[in-house]
Amino acid sequence: MPVTPEKTRVGFVGLGIMGAPMAINLIEAGYEVKVYNRTDRPRVQEVVDAGGQRVATPGETATDTHVVITMVNDSPDVEQVVLGSGGIIHDAPPGTVVIDMSTISPRVTRDIAARLGEAEIDMLDAPVSGGDVGARNGTLSIMVGGDSDVFQECLPILEVLGSSINLIGGHGAGQTTKLCNQVAGALNNLAVAESLMLAAAAGLDLEKVLAAISGGAAGSWMMSNLAPRILSGDFAPGFMVDLQQKDLRLVLQAANELGVSMPGLCLAHQCLNAVQHAGLGQEGTQALIKAYELQHGLQARKR
Ligand code: NAP
Repeated sequence: MPVTPEKTRVGFVGLGIMGAPMAINLIEAGYEVKVYNRTDRPRVQEVVDAGGQRVATPGETATDTHVVITMVNDSPDVEQVVLGSGGIIHDAPPGTVVIDMSTISPRVTRDIAARLGEAEIDMLDAPVSGGDVGARNGTLSIMVGGDSDVFQECLPILEVLGSSINLIGGHGAGQTTKLCNQVAGALNNLAVAESLMLAAAAGLDLEKVLAAISGGAAGSWMMSNLAPRILSGDFAPGFMVDLQQKDLRLVLQAANELGVSMPGLCLAHQCLNAVQHAGLGQEGTQALIKAYELQHGLQARKR
């Protein structure tokens, strides 16, 4: 049966840059939402002010709810909130669905799904693309792995959060698709950075360059969304460099397991290593350009 707001309460674990606006979108769509966040942050209060009911453990988000969404950082974090002490598995009744929307290892995802399956709890891996903007606007791209009946059942919830929702295959297929997305995204980001550096070195007006090239064949989400932030010196995170590096490590791990050579991806990963080494890991991924700026003593900013 589809999980409509009249019939379904939802649990939500992880009210970060992505999770907080996603939880608010569910509340605004009419769902009753129980929320958990590990620490106190202004963002958590925003979700409570919007109507979220805060609870003390990840497991408590699963009592009296049918679907629990997790939006934390990395594989060990999902393992902790799902399987660890106070985790979802200990409180969720059989028939609960856990939808993990974090970006984590496909292999760990399959392991968690198997553990949940033993407790008769279903799981979908449903990582997202579209950044903080997509999370706020409910326009994320959602890449799903899992059982197709469970997917159909959960579709009304996913449709609140995203505008492009695709079931790719079984457990882990959503996460592997997200890694493919990260390859294209990271190399695109690198392309935007090199393009802007050439324009800056030539002394061009960067706003004019961007206006001229973003509507043509070189245009992209990265160019439309990140390049304007670079030009105005806004390096606040949508998506943090540290988290991007976590994803690129997952990509390289998968590439090694599958025997795929990815020289371009390695280059982006190494440039971001330099950004992290400069102490800028908490900045947004648009800070990749700083790997070039630091090297050349030149900044790509608007006049
Ligand atoms: P974030 O702002 O750092 O938020 C992470 C959230 O996870 C916080 O609520 C944090 O709690 C919680 N958390 C982390 N480890 C935990 C643990 N062990 N136990 C309990 N809670 C834990 O990160 P984000 O940008 O929202 O990203 C979340 C996920 O979405 C990541 O997997 C990321 O790769 C993916 N993603 C992000 C973007 C983006 O543009 N930001 C886009 C697509 C996908 P505290 O508040 O207590 O630290």
